[in-house]
Amino acid sequence: MAEAAIRISKEKKSIFMDTVKEILPDKGNLNLCLTCGLCSSGCPATGLENMDPRKFLRMAALGLDDEITMHPWVWLCTMCERCLYACPMKINIPRLVYEARKLWPREKRPKGILGSCDMALRNMSCSAMGTPEEDFRFVVNDLLEEVRANQPGWENLQAPIDKQGAHFFLSQNSREPVTEPEEMVPLWKILHLAGADWTYSCTGWGGENYCMFLADDENWKKIAETTLQAARDLECRYYLNTECGHATYSVWMGQKRYGIKADDIEIVPIVRYYAKWIREGKLKVSSDWNKDRKIIFTTQDPCQQIRKSFGDPLADDLRFVIKSCVGEENFVDVYPNKSNNYCCGGGGGFLQSGYTEQRLKYGKMKFDQVMATRAKYVAVPCHNCHAQIHELSGHFEGEFHVIHLWTLIALSLGVLAENERAYLGPDLQEVNLPN
Ligand code: SF4
Ligand code: SF4
Ligand code: SF4
Repeated sequence: MAEAAIRISKEKKSIFMDTVKEILPDKGNLNLCLTCGLCSSGCPATGLENMDPRKFLRMAALGLDDEITMHPWVWLCTMCERCLYACPMKINIPRLVYEARKLWPREKRPKGILGSCDMALRNMSCSAMGTPEEDFRFVVNDLLEEVRANQPGWENLQAPIDKQGAHFFLSQNSREPVTEPEEMVPLWKILHLAGADWTYSCTGWGGENYCMFLADDENWKKIAETTLQAARDLECRYYLNTECGHATYSVWMGQKRYGIKADDIEIVPIVRYYAKWIREGKLKVSSDWNKDRKIIFTTQDPCQQIRKSFGDPLADDLRFVIKSCVGEENFVDVYPNKSNNYCCGGGGGFLQSGYTEQRLKYGKMKFDQVMATRAKYVAVPCHNCHAQIHELSGHFEGEFHVIHLWTLIALSLGVLAENERAYLGPDLQEVNLPN
């Protein structure tokens, strides 16, 4: 891959690189680069702002601290870890990027990420939209009443808040209660049919953590601690993350990174349970609705949930769930996939950072990957991937749709109501409607 020249006038000592080495186990292997270029060739951020991961690493090694530490590219790398995964020497470039973000004065970091981090610190909800407890309670209860009253068969649907001793503590990305509340209902129905004992909490229910993207360690820790403590206070056994990649990762990694006490609770992704409940026959999904239609589906492996945390076993569960809902023959995988997949460009705070043009350029690799499958739908268990791939489809005129897994599962169970189909195309608006 072509690489722009690095100009140096004299050899300098890298204070930045040395500082990062001190905080990383094995010193991040930062001195072991073979300059093979594997990192750059599979990085969607290569070429943006005339930078790529290999060049960034080499500039750090050459002591060009001033040039890289305030370089805007650090906000265009999504820290997806594709480079680390591909690197034969396991060089941790994403961590180098994270540390470079930290060197920006807090107030000079992208406003959108900063604002979302600060919003989440305004109250105990951890909601990046600043949604207070009473609003969350109101939306959940109001919606629940509406479903019970208007959807036959769901008179006993539950959406508990602060249920002491529930098996699962469920986090909820605040995009739903704030902007599209009806998107919460398919998940409630799935949990009901699976017989899950679950609860929201009035504190720490927001699944997001933009302080992680801001490289604000103190507040990444604070949010992860608040939400985990809420689950422990309710004596829940499992901390269940809804379909949100970075929320899953921020709690999972935050717990380890900051040594947050949580031995009595296990952090688990919801896709694992979707698969488990289908295998156990608790969720009786059927792909019959797609037998003759033969609508093709593909997926996106959220880096935060797959490559960076739960790995290929979760990617396999993801495929099992989708195939169970649409028919094995109607699923076409992207290539590369699973832990080797490309990031879509919605991660790392990119969606909030204001670098829209660069974000769409970054996403072209993902767009081409999806187009090659000829799929009409991308089923994805991540809010950021969802938003980004949805935008990519419109921007590059791909005309494919992006849906949450809960939508697909509820459709295949025949329980997806008319007003819960916002992300489905016209071809699926009337399919498998409940009686
Ligand atoms: S893949 Fe690893 S070894 Fe190869 S150029 Fe990139 S950082 Fe260096
Ligand atoms: S973390 Fe992802 S975006 Fe960043 S340099 Fe590595 S591959 Fe590129
Ligand atoms: S938006 Fe999705 S693909 Fe991109 S970094 Fe986040 S999880 Fe990965």
